[in-house]
Amino acid sequence: MSTGSEPLTLLAAIMLVFFIASLAWGLLASAAQVEPRMCQCLALVNALLAGSLAAHGLRGHAPALLSYWGSDVMGIAAIALLRASMPALNAPRLAWRSALAVLLPAALVLALLPYQGDMRWHSRLIFLSMTLLSVMASVDAWQQLRIHLDRKMATVLTGPLFLISAMMLSRLLESLLRPGQTTDVLGSGDFNVAWLWSTLVMNLVVNATMGLLVMTKLILRIQRLTRRDPLTEVLNRRALSEAIEVEHTRLQRGRSYALVMIDMDHFKHLNDTLGHAAGDAALKRAVEVLSPCVRDIDRFGRLGGEEFCMLLPLTDLAGALLVAERMRHNLEHSNFEWSGKPWPLTASFGIAEGRATDASADDVLRRADQGMYKAKAQGRNLVQAAEA
Ligand code: GH3
Ligand code: MG
Ligand code: MG
Repeated sequence: MSTGSEPLTLLAAIMLVFFIASLAWGLLASAAQVEPRMCQCLALVNALLAGSLAAHGLRGHAPALLSYWGSDVMGIAAIALLRASMPALNAPRLAWRSALAVLLPAALVLALLPYQGDMRWHSRLIFLSMTLLSVMASVDAWQQLRIHLDRKMATVLTGPLFLISAMMLSRLLESLLRPGQTTDVLGSGDFNVAWLWSTLVMNLVVNATMGLLVMTKLILRIQRLTRRDPLTEVLNRRALSEAIEVEHTRLQRGRSYALVMIDMDHFKHLNDTLGHAAGDAALKRAVEVLSPCVRDIDRFGRLGGEEFCMLLPLTDLAGALLVAERMRHNLEHSNFEWSGKPWPLTASFGIAEGRATDASADDVLRRADQGMYKAKAQGRNLVQAAEA
């Protein structure tokens, strides 16, 4: 391959990758409905990048407005959209403002700068905008991932995005230090060819990374669906049972644990009087006031209906009594209201601690249950243990 044709071949390969990636993201968004908002954005990012390079390649053959200004603005718009799409990793929200705050002034200044002769300032402005936007995208992606993942994992997953920022920065520095050589991506200079090669590789890596980020988000969502109660967001019965089983195996190695069984008092009456929606709101309010009693190592779950259970590792019966009393007090003072009408919320609490003689966690659960029924029998809004 001659040096002269290499940039052209590379450019064609990059455009092809952008085009295929755009199609793939578009298909994923429409057909598979996987994180549609994020996928639509990524389809558009790739399409804009392909469009930008195609328009650039038409310089001298197509109107200057498209092949110069259009190409540059499409390139910046692509990175702006990538930046805007990052919050979609966690919430149905796009960061439009910061993306437009870079894109619009850059597009305006580029329109005012004459596209003739010396185009150093165009390059500097384009790569400054792209550097800013890609740094914002990388930092935002890292922060979004840190909500669910540890520091190391978030850094590994966002590494390629930071690399893209470094590449944009290198192009900016090159336009500052070696002015006049960077305006043409078809230029056959060593730096340009190396930059095109790295663009091709990074282009593949970034699309793969974004694929990985979307997959990570999907896995986290599935995990949430399978482990959390949809109404109250606390652990569901299965997840809590698993946690109790794990704690029970540790009991053999001398680690104590306790359970607090919680059953709302007269909940049927609340439902019958105020309606099912009020009942749901009351359950959410109960979780809101009970959750502050949970330490980092404790696990709070909904067993079903209006029954909850709290797993307290490294806690004996006396410790469980203190926690349950605090919960009982918090619930009694929860000030629940429905349509402006106050309604008292209380629950009966049963506590039990794991014993080395317990064959399984079910024995502990049964004793906590017995304690709870004892509290019901003694008038409700009480904490009781099965043990006399
Ligand atoms: P007790 O003090 O003896 O526990 O009386 P209770 O009325 O709370 O007991 P019971 O078990 O008879 O009734 C539980 C009621 O909780 C039945 C149902 O109407 C209500 N319930 C269960 N799950 C839900 C739910 O997800 N949402 C709503 N709104 N109500 C629920
Ligand atoms: Mg019940
Ligand atoms: Mg009840």
